[in-house]
Amino acid sequence: MRDTCLQRLWRRVAIWFECTNRFRKVYGIMAKQHDFAEKVRKGTEERGSRCPKCGTIRVPILYVQSVRSAHQSYRFNSQRMQVCKCNEKEIYA
Ligand SMILES: [Zn+2]
Repeated sequence: MRDTCLQRLWRRVAIWFECTNRFRKVYGIMAKQHDFAEKVRKGTEERGSRCPKCGTIRVPILYVQSVRSAHQSYRFNSQRMQVCKCNEKEIYA
């Protein structure tokens, strides 16, 4: 009788453990997903800010223009630009 009682108790403990493990697993996945979303959000924020006009993330690029100088020679003028839907047509044209 004592053995079955212990076994029953042990089974309960085992079920309880499994429940908490499952909860921990699910909670861990949720936490990971949250972390990942947070990282992606932070990553895009670091790379560029969102344009208030078109709502797309501005991507910083090095915009290189060939500029004709006074001595009939070309030189390259490069500048950092933030590209979004508003100005991408002008830049990539
Ligand atoms: Zn824009």
